[in-house]
Amino acid sequence: MANLLGVFTAKNLLVLSLALNVSLIFRVLLLHDAQNGSFNGFFFTKHNGSQKEALFSPVSSSSSSSSLPISQGDRDRVINLDHGDPTMYESYWQRMGEETTVVIPGWQFMSYFSDATRLCWFLEPEFANQIVRLHNVVGNAVTENRHIVVGTGSTQLYQAALYALSPDTDAEPISVVSAAPYYSSYPLITDCVKSGLYKWGGDALSFSKNGPYIELVTSPNNPDGFARRSVVNRSEGILIHDLAYYWPQYTPISSAANYDLMLFTASKSTGHAGMRIGWALVKDEDVARKMTKYIEINTIGVSKDSQLRAAKVLKVISDNSERPNADGSFFEFSYHVMAKRWKQLREAVHESGLFSVPEFPPQLCKFLNVVFEPQPAFAWVKCEGEIEDCESFLRGKKILTRSGKHFGVGPKYVRISMLDRDRNYETFVERLSTIRL
Ligand code: PMP
Repeated sequence: MANLLGVFTAKNLLVLSLALNVSLIFRVLLLHDAQNGSFNGFFFTKHNGSQKEALFSPVSSSSSSSSLPISQGDRDRVINLDHGDPTMYESYWQRMGEETTVVIPGWQFMSYFSDATRLCWFLEPEFANQIVRLHNVVGNAVTENRHIVVGTGSTQLYQAALYALSPDTDAEPISVVSAAPYYSSYPLITDCVKSGLYKWGGDALSFSKNGPYIELVTSPNNPDGFARRSVVNRSEGILIHDLAYYWPQYTPISSAANYDLMLFTASKSTGHAGMRIGWALVKDEDVARKMTKYIEINTIGVSKDSQLRAAKVLKVISDNSERPNADGSFFEFSYHVMAKRWKQLREAVHESGLFSVPEFPPQLCKFLNVVFEPQPAFAWVKCEGEIEDCESFLRGKKILTRSGKHFGVGPKYVRISMLDRDRNYETFVERLSTIRL
């Protein structure tokens, strides 16, 4: 030991001790904040605030193995399942190795323009080809006679759609509604800049105002996973279909969606949320043009690097899906992971006796050729009995979730992400199964 200490100077030891102390203080702060529900990755949330959208988990585990035993450390660890960060898919893409690696020389793709002759002039042609191909392979959306508009995530496309669909002649902003429980980001995004064109109108089920309105139909729905149709059904309604989860790992693909404006995202289809790529399939040329204009004004297009990476990822999925008896099929992999997770969740809920989760009718998936019950990306969990505030109750068990109040429903419900890494998920279901009053 004396010899070892001799190797270090007093300065070395001082620096080492400082580093250890700073790291210890940082860990204590993270745990404290996570337990109090105030720290959400990059964002701070007011304890009573409604602004709550976190994208980064400081307390997630990094392991991707499902067979790891739950260690003592895991038993006490905070598990953050508040947001739907799709890290579950990492292990598949790791297995694919170099297949989706993209190398871009520094001099390439420098221009703002991708194809100046296209309506959406910043859409990379190869990405457009792979979008059409993947929808044809899966059979989940009609692409004929549609314009494709690419966006920085479908979050940007949602805003572009609001801009394009809102009448600019009306004195009053048009109401934007969605049936509760609705995706918690819709009201935040809609009212973020207090636009004069559109305004959040709340739950579509209780919407009674006369005149034009925009209705968001999310199918399968975030947070509860049910297939949906519009509920207001008035002639002056304009519909946006958010089909982020209309993929075979989450729900049976019964037919090709054929709506006027459909939104898709790489985040929930392939798991590449960090690429920030979404696409819209738009029937009406003027609407597609206005959406393109919005993105031009907002960000002068969409990263070409991301589009090229997305094109490669979609190509690999289509290639692997088309191979007969494909062992490496992305949707086979993700379907099986989701099926296993939902089975584990239902068992844990049954064992604990304090919670309930939705039941779904089984249907034939024409893509996988299997009959199965939807297995959504989120679990919409209800705390039964006397537990009134499900989020606080679970936070007390060091499980971070998102309260039903953010989705236009009461605090007896929470939304729990089903898309985290294996080790986090395993720890979660094990802990849930042992919870008693
Ligand atoms: N729509 C729904 C229904 C979602 O759940 C999400 C992601 N949570 C989005 C849109 C946003 O997706 P993106 O990452 O492409 O912005």
